[in-house]
Amino acid sequence: MEQVTRAWFDEVVVPTYAPAQFIPVRGLGSRLWDQQDREYIDLAGGIAVNALGHCHPALVQTLIEQGQTLWHVSNWMTNEPVLRLARKMVDATFADRAFFCNSGAEANEAAFKLARRYAHEQHGAQKDQIIAFFQGFHGRTFFTVSVGGQASYSDGFGPKPGQIQHVAYNDLAALQAVISERTCAVVMEPLQGEGGVLPADLEFAKAVRELCDAHQALLIFDEVQTGMGRTGSLFAYMQLGVEPDILTTAKALGGGFPIGAMLTREAIAQVFKPGVHGTTFGGNPLACAVAETAFELINDPAQLAGVKEREGWFREALAVINAQYHCFSEVRGQGLLLGAVLAPEYQGKAKAFVDAGIEQGVLVLVAGANVVRFAPALNLSREEFDLGMQRFAAAVAAVVAG
Ligand code: PLP
Repeated sequence: MEQVTRAWFDEVVVPTYAPAQFIPVRGLGSRLWDQQDREYIDLAGGIAVNALGHCHPALVQTLIEQGQTLWHVSNWMTNEPVLRLARKMVDATFADRAFFCNSGAEANEAAFKLARRYAHEQHGAQKDQIIAFFQGFHGRTFFTVSVGGQASYSDGFGPKPGQIQHVAYNDLAALQAVISERTCAVVMEPLQGEGGVLPADLEFAKAVRELCDAHQALLIFDEVQTGMGRTGSLFAYMQLGVEPDILTTAKALGGGFPIGAMLTREAIAQVFKPGVHGTTFGGNPLACAVAETAFELINDPAQLAGVKEREGWFREALAVINAQYHCFSEVRGQGLLLGAVLAPEYQGKAKAFVDAGIEQGVLVLVAGANVVRFAPALNLSREEFDLGMQRFAAAVAAVVAG
C-alpha cells in the first residue's frame, strides 16, 4: 500500500489549516505516537476535547457496543441514548431541556437563533441586538463567526448578519453603554479560551446577569471549551455563581466523538417548535451513547477534584520553569485550561514554544500569539505530566536559547 505522507495534505486537502509536519497514528491516555513511532505527551488534548485521554477503554467499549446496535435513525424518531443523555444533562444543570447537534459552532448557532426567536415572539421584532465580546470565539459558521469578537475571522464573506455589537470583555461600563431594550442576548465565554485564556471577573459576570435581567435580555454562556469538567466543575458557571439562560457545550462532551449541545430553560425552549430548527445528525445514538459514558465519568466528584489538583501541578511546574527562564509574565486560567502569558521580550512568539515542544515530544497549544495554552486530559497521570513538563522545560530552554 502507498505510504501516506504529510505532503498529501498540501496536495489534496483544502488549506484551511497548517497542520504540524508529523502525522499521529495512535494514542493511549495522554500519549500519541506518529508514523515513525515517535512518542508525544499530549498536553493539548485535541484542543480541550479528549477530556478522558485517547482511547479511554470505557468510551471504546461504548462505541463498539453502540456501533453494533444502532448508529443513526434521524430525528423523525427519537432514540434511547439521546434521551438518557438529555436526562443526565438537565438533572446536573440549571436547564430543563437539551438540544443536540454536532459541534460547538452548531450549538451556538442554535443558541443565537433561539435567543432571537424568543425575543421576537415575546417582545417583537425590534428586540434583535446581540451583544458579544471582543476576542470572544464562538465558531466558524457565518452567524457564530460574526458574533465572535475578531473581525479578521468574519470579514471578507459579504454582508454579515446585522445587530451584533461587540464590547471589551470584563468592561462593565462598556456593556452598560450599549445594552438597551433592543438587546435580546448577551453572549460570553465564562473564560475566553481562544482569545487568550482570559477569565471573567466574578463581579463582572454577576453584573452582566443583572444587566440582562434589567433589560429582559437572555444570558448565553458559551461553554464549548470550558464545559465538561475543564475548569474543575461540570460547567464553569457553577463556580462563577451566575446561571445563564442558555448554555452551549461541545468539545469534551463526546470525549473526542463529535457532538454539541445547547441547554436552556423550559419557557425559552418552547420557542423551538417542530420545524423551527434542526439538524440531521443531531442527537444520533452513536454520539449520544459515547457522550453519556463520558458524562458519567466526568461528572464525578473525584474526577472534578482531580482537575483542581492537576491545576496545582501545572502552576507549580510552570513557576519552576519561569524562575529559571523568565519567559512568562503570568499563568492564568482555571482548572485544566491554563495559559502561560509570554513576557514582553517573547511577544508574538507563542507558536515558537509549540514548535519547540513538538521537537521535544510534548504537545501544547497557542491561544493567540502571546499565550501558550494547556488543555490536557482531565485524567492526565502524574507520570505523563512529569514527563511532559520535563520535555516542555527543554522546549522553553530551546526557545530562550534562540
Ligand atoms: N465556542 C468556543 C468557546 C470555542 O472554543 C470553540 C472552538 O474552539 C467553538 C465555540 C467552536 O466549536 P467547534 O469548532 O466545535 O465548532
